[in-house]
Amino acid sequence: MGKIESNITICLENSSDTVSHSPATTMMQPGSKFCPLILVLMLLGGIAHCMVINLRRNGKPVLLVSFDGFRWDYLKRGLTPTFHSISVKGGSTKFIKPPFLTSTLPSHFSLVTGLHEESHGVTGSNMYDPHLNEFFTKNNNEEKWWSQRGQEPIWITNQRQGGSSGVIEFPGMGVAYGSRLPDHQYSRLDTSRSFQDLSDKAVELFANDHKVNFVALRFNEPDKTGHLHGPHSKKMNAAIAHCDKTMKHLIMRMREKNLFGKVNIIITSDHGMASTSRKRTIFAAKYLDRTAHPYFTSENNPLLGIWPHHAEHIDPLYRALKVAPHISVYKKADIPFRYHYRMNIRIAPIVALADKGWNLVGTKYDSLKLSDQ
Ligand SMILES: [Zn+2]
Repeated sequence: MGKIESNITICLENSSDTVSHSPATTMMQPGSKFCPLILVLMLLGGIAHCMVINLRRNGKPVLLVSFDGFRWDYLKRGLTPTFHSISVKGGSTKFIKPPFLTSTLPSHFSLVTGLHEESHGVTGSNMYDPHLNEFFTKNNNEEKWWSQRGQEPIWITNQRQGGSSGVIEFPGMGVAYGSRLPDHQYSRLDTSRSFQDLSDKAVELFANDHKVNFVALRFNEPDKTGHLHGPHSKKMNAAIAHCDKTMKHLIMRMREKNLFGKVNIIITSDHGMASTSRKRTIFAAKYLDRTAHPYFTSENNPLLGIWPHHAEHIDPLYRALKVAPHISVYKKADIPFRYHYRMNIRIAPIVALADKGWNLVGTKYDSLKLSDQ
């Protein structure tokens, strides 16, 4: 491909684990040619703030591209000439740290709100809310779950400030925030739609409607392949190469529409991935006496929330689970501050976290979805 100008940046995960223990921050690589205004804000506050300032002051439209589950070291396999070219001729971050629970929904929502999970309230793909006394699963688009404290994603903020947004395949895009939806949204209901089709749609949004100044585009690879075949499989290498070809196609389409150089492009991801096995699974029920101390769980493997029916059962359940191997167990008040995963009613009174490469589920029934990769 041809020369790539300096208005693109790549920010991929530094965590090879399915869980990160660090707050969401970004770092730029020394010598990056990226816009200085954006560089400073990325150091201070993350990609969401960077996008807001870009839209307000720089005036250039922004295309945010997320390749789901693109582990940082996938770039080192010699399969990504387009990403490499971008990182050399555009800009790239040395690393980013995803939010604590590096799961697709909460992590992507941190990306577009600039908030930690305890603040935006999407604390997992599965949640329980004691105020609502309801459970959440990932296809729920009710505002009460996504806007617990009135927060909204950047595509809505952009529209409230006079811009126009398009959202493609992004978590939370189907939610009406204060009765507002994105001006344009596309989901891949027809799963046969190719990544090239999705790329073309993003380019069309900018080309066909000059009011559109922000588009968020998410591809579900290489996450999907990683879950099926593992991060070190041959199929993963093919998925990585496919992502690179997708980016090449996207840039080609932008050139054809005379958009390249006129739109700032940010390429990022939501989390990494670690190998695991069903044989390395901890079942919480094996350690807990549900009859003596009744409870239910919120399952976000490798994170497990324990909700006792009675507050006086927190201590005995905590002590019982504490003896289990390969996990860390916390009472809510003792969850390390640096995780920014404590100050929300949707976080369970007891939280347990599996070690890297291990699974943690409530019961054997809950383990049915586990893979051996
Ligand atoms: Zn993901």
